[in-house]
Amino acid sequence: MRTVNAIAAPSATEPLVRTTIDRRDLGPRDVLIEIRYAGICHSDIHTVRGEWGQVPYPLTVGHEIVGRVAEVGAEVDRFEVGARVGVGCMVNSCRKCGNCQAGQEQYCENGNIGTYASTDLDGTVTQGGYSTHIVVDQDFVLRVPESLPYEKVAPLLCAGITTYSPLAHWKAGPGKKVAVVGMGGLGHMAVKIAAAMGAEVTVLSQTLGKKDDGLRFGAEHYYATKDPATFEALKNTFDLIINTVSAPIDMAAYLRLLRLDGTLVSVGAPPEPLPVPVFALFGNRRSFAGSSIGGIAETQEMLDFCAERGISPEVELITADAVNEAYERVLSSDVRYRFVIDIDSLRS
Ligand code: NAP
Ligand code: ZN
Ligand code: ZN
Repeated sequence: MRTVNAIAAPSATEPLVRTTIDRRDLGPRDVLIEIRYAGICHSDIHTVRGEWGQVPYPLTVGHEIVGRVAEVGAEVDRFEVGARVGVGCMVNSCRKCGNCQAGQEQYCENGNIGTYASTDLDGTVTQGGYSTHIVVDQDFVLRVPESLPYEKVAPLLCAGITTYSPLAHWKAGPGKKVAVVGMGGLGHMAVKIAAAMGAEVTVLSQTLGKKDDGLRFGAEHYYATKDPATFEALKNTFDLIINTVSAPIDMAAYLRLLRLDGTLVSVGAPPEPLPVPVFALFGNRRSFAGSSIGGIAETQEMLDFCAERGISPEVELITADAVNEAYERVLSSDVRYRFVIDIDSLRS
């Protein structure tokens, strides 16, 4: 076991504090990663504040992890020391069920092992990326192309794949009208990726405050959802709506923006239920769906897609001591567009 520096939440109501956590000794198929950058996902905040249920405190969160391989176990054959690698929201799964066999480990029928707050195969509680090192089975480690800017790439490991996966599944592309609801961490990646896939992208944000950015990221249209005229103007318009909002939204109002056979996919995960009025589904034979991150192979495909297209997240780099303040800014939708912790600030 090795003891490494980290930041942890002591409880649902206290600020995160500096601490140390233990990482297991390397098993034969494990990779030790020296973490360089860790993104702050809104899921980290939902989790540490206990909004999604019971949490094993103290807990270190963080599932947008990028760094370099520092050591490898005896049987590791996919990575060499020095390789630039990433870890997203999962660190293991059963590998035997139908979904795992189909490369959809995120939907493991026995429950995937999350990067934090999950019980690992050895019975310990997993601890996330706001720390200097992590030990992960090589099958859940991603290769991060060197052409992607090191300090910006971490958010692809959650925000990138969580939006890429439904955009690919519901075939965003030329001739498709795609709306993105909420332009925060996930939302701004959805805009960039959907535009790169060739779709006609519309942003539905609370206000027009980030319009210039949205158009720069590749959107063609940008509307304020605080203005009721938006919902009148866009009735029956979209083939696909990706909802990234971290709070409940008025489902009927958004569903009515779908055209015939359109689908609204929620990736936003508010603690409260999202009531769906069936009559809003009947019109235009609409569908309401959810989507959770993406499989390991698909995550690699997304990283390679972003590298080829020169797509990277917009980030604000912070030190470990600024994490609590960053959380408050995320909660007030004041994020441009992902906070990334410079993990070097945790080393001393
Ligand atoms: P974020 O950066 O805080 O972005 C959320 C955006 O939603 C905000 O920037 C804001 O956009 C909008 N918003 C926030 N509160 C709102 C409200 N009360 N009414 C209307 N709009 C509001 O969060 P994130 O990291 O992108 O995560 C978004 C959600 O996705 C979270 O619930 C997170 O847990 C979830 N998530 C799910 C998965 C998955 O696998 N399904 C993976 C990662 C994250 P505007 O300012 O543009 O209005
Ligand atoms: Zn996340
Ligand atoms: Zn499985």
